[in-house]
Amino acid sequence: MENKTKYIFVTGGVVSSLGKGIVGASLGKLLRARGYSVTILKFDPYINVDPGTMSPFQHGEVFVTDDGAETDLDLGHYERFIDANFGRINNVTAGSVYLNVINKERRGDYLGGTVQIIPHITDEIKNRLKEAAKHNPDFLIAEIGGTVGDIESLPFLEAIRQFKVEAGFGNTVSIHVTLIPYLNCSGELKTKPSQHSVNTLRSIGIQPDILVCRSSKSIPQSERAKLALFTNVPPEAVIECKDLKTIYEVPVALEAQNLPKEVLKRLNIQDKTVPNLDSWKTIVNGIKNPDKSVKIALAGKYTKLSDAYISVVESLKHAGAALGTSIELKWIDSEDVCVDFKKAKDVMADVDGLVIPGGFGIRGVEGKINVINIARTSNTPFLGLCLGMQCAVIEYARNMAGLSDANSTEFNPETPHPVIDLMREQEEVVDYGGTMRLGAYDCHLQSGTLAEKMYGTDIISERHRHRYEVNNFFREKLSESGLTFSGMSPDRKLVEMIELKNHRYFIASQFHPEFKSRPERPHPLFYGLVKAALERKENANRSEKLQQTFN
Ligand code: GLN
Repeated sequence: MENKTKYIFVTGGVVSSLGKGIVGASLGKLLRARGYSVTILKFDPYINVDPGTMSPFQHGEVFVTDDGAETDLDLGHYERFIDANFGRINNVTAGSVYLNVINKERRGDYLGGTVQIIPHITDEIKNRLKEAAKHNPDFLIAEIGGTVGDIESLPFLEAIRQFKVEAGFGNTVSIHVTLIPYLNCSGELKTKPSQHSVNTLRSIGIQPDILVCRSSKSIPQSERAKLALFTNVPPEAVIECKDLKTIYEVPVALEAQNLPKEVLKRLNIQDKTVPNLDSWKTIVNGIKNPDKSVKIALAGKYTKLSDAYISVVESLKHAGAALGTSIELKWIDSEDVCVDFKKAKDVMADVDGLVIPGGFGIRGVEGKINVINIARTSNTPFLGLCLGMQCAVIEYARNMAGLSDANSTEFNPETPHPVIDLMREQEEVVDYGGTMRLGAYDCHLQSGTLAEKMYGTDIISERHRHRYEVNNFFREKLSESGLTFSGMSPDRKLVEMIELKNHRYFIASQFHPEFKSRPERPHPLFYGLVKAALERKENANRSEKLQQTFN
């Protein structure tokens, strides 16, 4: 293939939340499996400059990349499916596009000209496409967030229309992901909404080359032919994408439906390779047909929207698939239930492991501290992530180091024992001034610790997103009381990991390991948690059986 990037545009029709990201990521996986280099670009039509400031309640998790960008959670799917690391240039919001154009206008770059959506905003969007493809990947998959017909996505679609003309015939493909609803009362799949959606896309000047049809049922040939006729797409390019038991099955299903073949055909590339999806299929099988199950509690404050912790949940699934177990998640609302210690004990009674994910603000913190206390004292496997580690340090300081008022200054600025604080070097406070420590940093693991054993190495790199740190002033006191600081920044100024000896599995990190877990390479910290939880469950079953024999 000549060194010229081919562009694949993915739009969505009829409704939002169709899983365009999963379709794009699956296609990326299938092209990678054929030996091509693939990069991605997620366009988000909202005005926020980046998703960093958006509430997880509304928008799900903020996914953090190695280079410290706070991005849309779809970037997580792309990284997990394609097994690549993306960054700042791979996520563009309308806000960041407008901000750049307005900054240029303020600097006088437009020499007094009138600044308009076309050409200035559309040029900026096209530049971002070229920037994302600057390393000349074989393919760039660009997903346009939102639904065709939204006001917000119009400048993006217009930019793509222009881009397709400029790139020339055979260099771009448009895939429209659409919904074929099933009407229970008449027992029919309906194609009309998709016809309308394609009409809207065509009125903007984009004729889709391929339709990926999301539906709950198989789409009969007759309906596909009808869709093809009305939307000007060849029947073989009307591809079905049914609801499946796990998202990891989507690449397998789309391969079987010839999506990559149709894409390559339209780019005049011969599809010579049969991709080897064996190890991927093993994972799918592991998730679909587990031979055991384990119950893991996840205590957070955004439990009503599971997308808020999507990378954590996926990491647990990766570990579960590798260990042949399903993960039964028990969502614990740290605010509602756990502030009352007795209630927290009841809630924790039937779980095999506990994860406390990241978070901001005081809400639910005391509940988290309670459930960590229960996990610590009942030898229940525990993994703390960022805020989860900070809560574990507070719990340990209060109950084991005699610092009964210990807290983070995030939750109580007046605490006499600020074990978690904005970074403090000796006595001098270095305020980050509203900024966060973001992205990948190295961490050194102490030899002989659980952390080192799990990672199998002593230098690791992990992604961060936080303002507060373990306060060095209390480090000695805490380690004298038995807390192990198993991971430190290379200059030893920042605590990166803690753990406990004489516990089945009690480990926590200041970073977010969940951003680096991959289906085919589960993250060691999650793998360790699920393994320890399984062992605990098996032990408990064994002792129960033993007891029954004696009774
Ligand atoms: N709120 C904490 C801090 O800013 C933890 C952040 C997180 O969990 N991502 O340090």
